Amino acid sequence: MTDPKAQPKLTLSTSVKELPGVGKARAASLNKLGIENVSDLLRHLPMRYEFLAGETSVEQLQADTIGTARGIVAAKRWVAGGRGKGRLEVTLQDEADTLRLVWFNAAYLQEKLFPGVHLRVTGKVQHFGGYPQMVNPKFETLAYDVVPEPLPSYRRPIYPATEKLPSSQIEELIAHCLDQLAGQIPDPLPVELLEHHAMPNLAEALMLVHRPDQPDDPGVGRRRLAFNELLLLQLGIELKRQYNQDRLQAPTLRFSQAKDEHIRQRFGFELTDSQKQVVGEIAKDLQRDVPMNRLVQGDVGSGKTVIALYGLLMAVSDGYQGALMAPTELLAEQHYLSMSKMLKGSSVRIELLTAGQASANSVARKEIEARIEAGEIDIIIGTQALVSESIKFSNLALVVVDEQHRFGVLQRAAFRSKMSEQVQAGRIASPHYLVMTATPIPRTLSLTLFGDLDVSTIHGLPPGRKPIITRVVGSEKSDDVYTYIASRVAKGEQVYVVVPAIDESEEESENQLKSVAAHSRLLQEKYFADFTVSSMHGRLKPAERDVIMGSFREGNVHVLVATTVIEVGVDVPNATMIVIEHAERFGLAQLHQLRGRIGRGTKDVKNLCVLIADPVTDEGQQRVDAIADSTDGFRIAEKDLEIRGMGDFFGTRQHGMPPLRVARIPEDMDLLQLAKRDATDMVKADAQLKLPENQTLRKVLLKQYGTALGLIDVG
Ligand code: ADP
Ligand code: MG
Repeated sequence: MTDPKAQPKLTLSTSVKELPGVGKARAASLNKLGIENVSDLLRHLPMRYEFLAGETSVEQLQADTIGTARGIVAAKRWVAGGRGKGRLEVTLQDEADTLRLVWFNAAYLQEKLFPGVHLRVTGKVQHFGGYPQMVNPKFETLAYDVVPEPLPSYRRPIYPATEKLPSSQIEELIAHCLDQLAGQIPDPLPVELLEHHAMPNLAEALMLVHRPDQPDDPGVGRRRLAFNELLLLQLGIELKRQYNQDRLQAPTLRFSQAKDEHIRQRFGFELTDSQKQVVGEIAKDLQRDVPMNRLVQGDVGSGKTVIALYGLLMAVSDGYQGALMAPTELLAEQHYLSMSKMLKGSSVRIELLTAGQASANSVARKEIEARIEAGEIDIIIGTQALVSESIKFSNLALVVVDEQHRFGVLQRAAFRSKMSEQVQAGRIASPHYLVMTATPIPRTLSLTLFGDLDVSTIHGLPPGRKPIITRVVGSEKSDDVYTYIASRVAKGEQVYVVVPAIDESEEESENQLKSVAAHSRLLQEKYFADFTVSSMHGRLKPAERDVIMGSFREGNVHVLVATTVIEVGVDVPNATMIVIEHAERFGLAQLHQLRGRIGRGTKDVKNLCVLIADPVTDEGQQRVDAIADSTDGFRIAEKDLEIRGMGDFFGTRQHGMPPLRVARIPEDMDLLQLAKRDATDMVKADAQLKLPENQTLRKVLLKQYGTALGLIDVG
């Protein structure tokens, strides 16, 4: 009997800590590379390979490759170079030819390498004076009587490594796992599918990338591994979609011409063609009993708020409730204000609920909660406080999530538990969801991350918008900038000034960042002595922010110095200028959002965005250039993806999705399309992946995406 504890069986989910030779320090190094278990480790792919040619005769050694040959030392010579330095020249002879070997500054080798010794040497082959030559080759001395097998050729994988964990150690660990698992790696994909795509099975694919034999092997293996990831992801999304269709039930809202006209009357302007189209798509979804899951993307200022209001009013006019969730209190407050204004004189009851406005236990908050539950509030606007435990809706039909692509599937599920009637005829009650974002999502990304959402796009901006002029200047020009801006403020315009910090830092330093505190003082004294400069940041109490924002909106504050709290949604048409200090420090999407604060009015003035930047990194320079080059959010988003890469793009991890390790977007777009098609077909044929050939797939899928996609209850 063997003790099972003595030799724990290695599986894909074995933690790297259990691998031989991996202690705390190494485990930490591995984790730093995002590697937690054997599966992660095996999907840590080489970035390149070093080709070591197999052993050949001297004659067959190829110039400029790393070759191996054996022979007998025929002669040696020490060529002194002064101060103990010099080089050792050795002539190695095989049956037919001569190989020159040179070691620099290795006097000690004179003891080892004398005529008659059998050597096997490996090194880069060069030609010198008509002979093949190796400089500083690796060597081993061979015994006279035992003749070892010739060394085979080897493509040594070179892995992304860290200072403490070099590639060679990763190579050893991976080799160990591959040897231990040898062919026992279960393949989640059905054989027919692999045959259809002419792809290797999983175990083979891993061998192809980690131990390639032919130059094409790594590419073939990598493709299969990338496809694996993408197919799992798409299957997860497809199962989720199927589940929503079969198991969830949303209120069907009625649509009529009269209702439509009634709602549009509230807007005070004609919708653009693009807005009309999006409204049409939403209205269609809301009439079905399958929950809508729709993402509306439209550039900053494209007019998403009225779209949200349209949906909410469709719910309210049928006697249901609607909720609007915003990412910041400032934005929630502003939505509350602008919607209240549009609903003035109607019977719609609208309320604001934020964490700051009233603590969870306060009387005011309790009162609002009670009215939500009693159905005495029609539209409730708030922050994430809306998903807090204590809130129950009376009859929620629509949830709108604004400016927040980060609300993943989980948050959406959270609202389901807030429905009063949980189950109706075997189906779970669910509201419709509308997610709005001004960070345009490149199609490639929306397919991977938001594959479970339908997407509507608002193209273009409402009519009458004046273009925004963007200027980039170094900080040495800031005096000119503020002097010019002051001259325009004197004519009645308003300006935002964005800085990265709230307070001055204690330390005195050259590269002290501009802060709200210090910069607003400076601006007030030096450039805007006759005007009102106010400041705004995330640490102010909501009530204080309300007052400041109100004064700015009314035109009583002329210069608003702020942190990025004003990044999303803030809408003051008379603000026609924005200055962004230390612009190189902000992300591309952030800069685009900030710039979107201006250009909202119809006054005949030049909207001006000034980026004060002294970029020191390449990336910083690229970002500033990109923002100066274009005002098109979609172009900027593609550029952002290009600069940052997909892994980083607005924090993939925030979606709670396992990261893609092998697949690269957009390069693997063709595989993604393939995976999407296959996933749809597979779920169509076997809705819950219950067929025997899909069992492994199902298991792997639940393990990897179960939590992220809320698939647990699917099983
Ligand atoms: P965003 O898409 O950034 O949320 P908003 O909804 O805040 O944009 O709209 C920006 C401004 O454009 C608001 O002042 C809004 O009233 C106005 N607006 C929206 N749609 C139209 C339209 N069709 N015609 C004129 N103005 C519009
Ligand atoms: Mg908005």
